[in-house]
Amino acid sequence: MFIKDSNSITPFEKKIWLSSPTMHGDEKKWVNDAIDTNWVSTVGANINAVESEVASFIGKKYGVGLSSGTAALHLAVRLCAEKLYGKPKTGHGALEGKKVFCSDMTFDATVNPVVYENGEPVFPDTESDTWNMDPEALRKAFELYPDVKLIVAAHLYGTPAKIDEIRRIADEHGALIVEDAAESFGSTFDGRQTGSFGDVSVISFNGNKIITGSTGGMLLTDSKEDADTVRKWSTQSREDAPWYQHEELGYNYRMSNIVAGVVRGQLPYLREHIAQKKAIYERYKEGFKGLPVSMNPVNETRCDVNCWLSCLIIDRQAMCPTVRSENKALYNPEHGKSCPAEILEQLARINAEGRPVWKPMHMQPIYRLHGFVTKNGDGRARTNAYIDTGDAGSIGEDIFERGICLPSDNKMTPAEQDAIIEVIGRCFD
Ligand SMILES: *Cc1c(COP(=O)(O)O)cnc(C)c1O
Repeated sequence: MFIKDSNSITPFEKKIWLSSPTMHGDEKKWVNDAIDTNWVSTVGANINAVESEVASFIGKKYGVGLSSGTAALHLAVRLCAEKLYGKPKTGHGALEGKKVFCSDMTFDATVNPVVYENGEPVFPDTESDTWNMDPEALRKAFELYPDVKLIVAAHLYGTPAKIDEIRRIADEHGALIVEDAAESFGSTFDGRQTGSFGDVSVISFNGNKIITGSTGGMLLTDSKEDADTVRKWSTQSREDAPWYQHEELGYNYRMSNIVAGVVRGQLPYLREHIAQKKAIYERYKEGFKGLPVSMNPVNETRCDVNCWLSCLIIDRQAMCPTVRSENKALYNPEHGKSCPAEILEQLARINAEGRPVWKPMHMQPIYRLHGFVTKNGDGRARTNAYIDTGDAGSIGEDIFERGICLPSDNKMTPAEQDAIIEVIGRCFD
């Protein structure tokens, strides 16, 4: 076995992260405000300010601050499920026995909330144009499962899905859309902010997102009634009564005024973070010229993308033979070729963090028995990726086999990024 010559590149003293929180100091003012006024719980000026600022920025009438993006997705899914199917008799399981079309190549937080409500996720394949749900596969999925009434669609790595087509197909079938804009806060599609397209939409303030509250999320809607319902569910569903009165199931999902203070301090920096992430994306793109790789798609003609994570995908013919089990990857190093495992090893060696792109949900042990639909209508679900034969079972599997997320931290310097580009280049020596 030989090692490609990247040893001359000195590892970074301070780790370069995929994407880490970037504080600016303004956060302290609002957090201190909350502490000084004793409004540290789930009511207060920061929550009110953040809800109205984010809703008006995105172009939805109401925002509800919640403890996480996942909590927001859960309540979004329950809200849509109750509109479609009514209130469940047991108070729980609003999607009992119902199938829901979900993005396949995504973080599992997009999909799990469907199961919290006893629904059954079915996965239309991904498209190479945007790395998001393929409208053609969605159309096919409706042919196979015509009764489905709910779609949960994510915008991966900040790049919007073809949400206009997804909306058109949804409308043809009387289906509702939960839009998972957790990764795409600040990205636009045809001039409109992501998060404005869903019947109910969700963003996240998790620590690694484009701006953060340390944690937190928000649900967005145009309906005051829905916003009030979600606010009530998120605070244990207390009815208006002198005692704790409960008519329906509740949760402890409300955002705290401290977390909202951090978000409030971060909001003015959203534009700056996006500009930094875009510069990182462009520098990689320029730096990889001449290598057998491409960057993740950004659909420049219709979108302005926040470039939350920069990713690359290795040309098929430049992939060295790789085998992946459920928890390990093995590869044969070859001159002129590389693979995600080799690049990630080399990045780790210089103290930089990369990771494979999201492993598609239909390949995950938890969801492998669920429906999966490619645009041709077949759904050959495989759990393990393969020895390179050039025949991936689906677009999502193919992107997973060849793609990686690159260090995209907005505090990375151009010199550090150049070293990363150099190391990746040498993987193809
Ligand atoms: C981060 C993320 C979520 C979940 O948000 P949390 O705030 O971490 O709960 C949901 N969907 C996608 C696509 C995400 O990247």
